[in-house]
Amino acid sequence: MVKDDCIFCKIAAGQIPSKTVYEDEKFRAILDISPASKGHTIILPKHHADNIYELPEEDAAGIFVVAKKIAGAMKETMGCEGINILQNNGEIAGQTVFHLHVHVIPRYQEDNIAFSWQHGEPTEEELETTSEKIKQAIKAFD
Ligand code: AMP
Ligand code: ZN
Repeated sequence: MVKDDCIFCKIAAGQIPSKTVYEDEKFRAILDISPASKGHTIILPKHHADNIYELPEEDAAGIFVVAKKIAGAMKETMGCEGINILQNNGEIAGQTVFHLHVHVIPRYQEDNIAFSWQHGEPTEEELETTSEKIKQAIKAFD
């Protein structure tokens, strides 16, 4: 499925040019046009899904295999010292393009990229309640 007016559907289909670093039947990986660091790549499924909730399990599994290939290649060629794999869902989480994609971001000394949060200090009871809630919800999905 391709969504009308979705720029990433068009890029994934090759209708809009991109700096493609990898392509197979299901995915296209391209250089991010506005990268966080040199080599920043995004992996696009060819079938449209707005976000992770809509993504078929098969594509969810496959996209991580592609991320692993790209990460290995980056480690070899880009001289990076680490890599972040990032995937945003929803505006609050920083998603700006509503066609699911996975970021592969090579990390270099002094790259000025920051992913930070304040660590909470939940009680044992809070952790238990939260884990139960999520566990039950997962069972409902299966
Ligand atoms: P996100 O904020 O997770 O939705 O990420 C969207 C990413 O897509 C950003 O890092 C943008 O720089 C990148 N981007 C947007 N348009 C293009 C494009 N035409 N080609 C390549 N990357 C793009
Ligand atoms: Zn799309």
